[in-house]
Amino acid sequence: MERLTLAHDPRPPCDTGCIRMIPEPIHPAPEDTPEARRYNRIRRWIGVSDFLIGLAFLIVLLVTGWSGWLRDVAYRWGFQHYSLAVFFYLLLLLVISKALGIGLDYYGFRLERKFKLSTQRLRSWLWDEVKGFLVGLVLASIVVELLYYTIAQWPQHWWLLAWALFMGLFVVFAQLAPVLLFPVFYKFEPLNDEDLRRRLVMLSSRAGTHIRGVYRWKLSEKSKKANAALTGLGRTRRIILADTLLDNYAPEEIEAVLAHELGHHVHRHILKSILVQAAITLFGFWAANWVLHYAVDQHMFEQLSDFANLPLLALVSVVISLLLMPALNAYSRFNERQADLYAFESIDSVEPFISSMNKLAAQNLAERIPSRWVEVLFHSHPAISRRVAAAQAWEKAQKVNSQV
Ligand SMILES: [Zn+2]
Repeated sequence: MERLTLAHDPRPPCDTGCIRMIPEPIHPAPEDTPEARRYNRIRRWIGVSDFLIGLAFLIVLLVTGWSGWLRDVAYRWGFQHYSLAVFFYLLLLLVISKALGIGLDYYGFRLERKFKLSTQRLRSWLWDEVKGFLVGLVLASIVVELLYYTIAQWPQHWWLLAWALFMGLFVVFAQLAPVLLFPVFYKFEPLNDEDLRRRLVMLSSRAGTHIRGVYRWKLSEKSKKANAALTGLGRTRRIILADTLLDNYAPEEIEAVLAHELGHHVHRHILKSILVQAAITLFGFWAANWVLHYAVDQHMFEQLSDFANLPLLALVSVVISLLLMPALNAYSRFNERQADLYAFESIDSVEPFISSMNKLAAQNLAERIPSRWVEVLFHSHPAISRRVAAAQAWEKAQKVNSQV
């Protein structure tokens, strides 16, 4: 299942070392259709192109000196007031980058319609784009204003303070996301299916834990895909299940999905991901400080608090994210395997897990057997064929154990 967190959530090791975790399928997995392969190939290209456009934009801003020109415009708009100018500069940057990326966004929307995976109309999509832009602007404004305030006030130790503030905000955002952010785009309602509730209570009590809320996620208004996730922190911790899943899967299959999400909860994956994020962010701020000092020494900017250096900070963050992406994806796949294993142990039979995986692959047009390098570089989840094979291998091992 996809896990919905604020940032694309991070996650190590094992992938190369744990051969026992990557068993060969006992029954050969069904081949991917040419349609599924094509859809996923195009989606990857959209992702890579989007990334390259963003990267080129940042480099052009810095190399041509346009960033300084935009800063001067922002100062005029903001009556020479520093914080207002920071806001207008950010607004200009976000508007231009949206204008550069909107073509690809629209292509992505058309792609989902073309492969009959989306039920969303153009008007609703456009409204989502507007809302997404505004939400992004609000979140980015909070972060960037705090960042430059910190740099201006404490030029010596800004990176440590900014890191502490950033992580505090990250935790607050992660906590508020299910109640404040997701409802901007989707409707949610408490799940009132007695049978499923009873199954969850049974699963939770076996795990010695409890989940406060399970919510029905009205995904069908926009998509035909199915999804489920564990989200939130503390009081807002909840499992969300798409109606496209609830309405089309057998109770045992939904129970298997719930058990997987409960596995994420029991293994504290959200907390661990935040800690990993904290370590990476600390390194990121340290590197950003070093790069900013270097740029000032080279007379690219007059001082650290010159916000025309924002594209340089963004570039540092993009390069670090890119370099760490394979490791973070490996960590994520490790967590997913742990949650799967938890599910195998808590449900009566792995059959509903296997059938739910196969249904999900067909419904979401997922690649069951992506090439190894595609999986290593891009996938936050193990390939469906591997997850099914792991379930079969687990069941086989149980049978052998019970005979011994
Ligand atoms: Zn998962």
